[in-house]
This record gives sequence, structure tokens and C-alpha cells, in this order.
Amino acid sequence: MDCEIIEEEDNRIRILLTGTDNASVNALRRTMIADTPKMAIHQVRFTQSTEVTDDGTVWETVSPIPDEVIAHRLAMTPIPSDTQDFSFEHECINCKDMVESQRGCPLCNIVYTCNVKGTPEGVAVKARDLEVFGDLSLSIPEEFADITITKLYKGQMISLTAKAKKGYGRDHVKWQPVCGIAFQSRQHAVLHDKKAAKSLWGLGLTVTEKDFGKNGRIEDIHMVEKVRADLHHVGPSTDLGRDFGDAITLEDVDGEFILSYETDGSMKARTVFELATASLGERFDALSGDLDIVL
Ligand SMILES: [Zn+2]
Repeated sequence: MDCEIIEEEDNRIRILLTGTDNASVNALRRTMIADTPKMAIHQVRFTQSTEVTDDGTVWETVSPIPDEVIAHRLAMTPIPSDTQDFSFEHECINCKDMVESQRGCPLCNIVYTCNVKGTPEGVAVKARDLEVFGDLSLSIPEEFADITITKLYKGQMISLTAKAKKGYGRDHVKWQPVCGIAFQSRQHAVLHDKKAAKSLWGLGLTVTEKDFGKNGRIEDIHMVEKVRADLHHVGPSTDLGRDFGDAITLEDVDGEFILSYETDGSMKARTVFELATASLGERFDALSGDLDIVL
């Protein structure tokens, strides 16, 4: 399998995969969903307290949103996962021999604290209010700092400690680094009937007859997308559909696929691809090793 990046932003990518088949690309997709680990908040400890300030206001650790919902929102907050390599708790050199409830050290956990007091007009507690304990590069990135966790009014406050650990998407979706992941066959646009295609050129859209060149075919991925968009104007359900027929068709290219996905923001799209291909490679190696022994 060969790959070529078609479009890339930090949290979004489109990759052309060649010399492969449906099953292999789907295996890669499923690996990204279920078997590519990342950090996510898995434990939240809410502090219960009451205090009275000088002006006589009584402050209580209550919030309009139940603690369970806050914990869920925290779990879904993207925790930076590619700036530092953490161990799994069960493999951590400090923690692997401890009982599960005792595990958690700087090699396998990130700890955040959040202490906010409400105001008379109401203040939104945001992801930026999570203060990381230790390495500041693990703070919630500015891009996601506006994720709202709860809202507090005068007399209400929140005080919590949250721990993030490394996990797999197969155990809980909070550890799934990708979303909206899909793939489709790469297609070429083929011009079959120049006369019938005139109804499309007449509309003055993006693609022209010249673009199809001498061999009547467009192979460039971005151009094929423009053809796909233009073809909606002459599809079977439009007025021009009957005359246009199959004047231009999109044909699948054997063994070539376009994979596209976004990440939840916890790591770069490219990192997810690298981790997933490495993990899948390891599994295939182990499988062929087993087969060699058996056969
Ligand atoms: Zn540890």
C-alpha cells in the first residue's frame, strides 16, 4: 500500500491510498477508531465544601449540571496526546504492580485541577479553567479552550481534580482519536458523448470540455470533485437529465482509495495515521509469524 496526502490541516486530512483493496483500507479505518491510543480524562474527584466570605455570601460546591454530566464533558475534552509519550497504566513501570485504584503517576497520568467561583450574572466554566499539574505543554490547547463545562452563579463554586490516562477507542469512545472517518474509491471522470455533454457546458459551471483533454478523461482528484459537483446539475432528477444521460460518468479506479477523517483535536491527523499504520503492521507481522509456525 502506498499513500499520498491530498489535503492536510492539523486536525483534518485526506489521503490517497494506492495498490490496496477495500478490506485493507477498512482494516486501517477500524484500527484508527479502535486501536490507536490517546489520553482522555477517566476519573474526576469533586470536592464537597462550603465557605462563607466576608460579605456573608455562602458558597457551596453545587452546579446546575449534575456531576456525572460534568465528568462526561471532561472525558470528551481533547487532551494533548502527541506532545509526550505516556505509558498505559497497566504497563507503567511505577504502577503495573499496584491494584487498579492505586495506579497513576506522572509517567501514565495527567492531572488537571479546576477551581472556579460563580458571579451574580453567571460565569461559564470553560476547558481553559482546567489547570494542568506539571508540564504546561499538556494544557488544553487554546483552540479548544472555549468548550463549556458548566455555568456558575453567586454562591456556587466548583472544585475538582481530573485524571487523564491512555486508552483505546475499543474500550470507550473518549479514547477514539478520529471522527467522521470514511473512504471511497478514487474515481476518474470519463466523457463518453460530446454531443449530449453540451447541455452541461451550456450551464457555464466549473468544468469545461477542454478539461477532459484529448483522451476524454480527467484523472486529477480535485478536478474530478468539481466534475462530481457539476454533474448534480444534469442528474436524472433534473430537467436536463434525460438529454444528458450518461454523457459523462465517474468510474472507480481499481485498487485506489481516498481516506478522509478529522481528529478530535487531541493529536494531529498525521500522527493518528502513523500510529495506526504502525499498529496494523505489527498485527499483520504477528499474524504471518503465527501462520509460518502453523503451516
Ligand atoms: Zn504510572
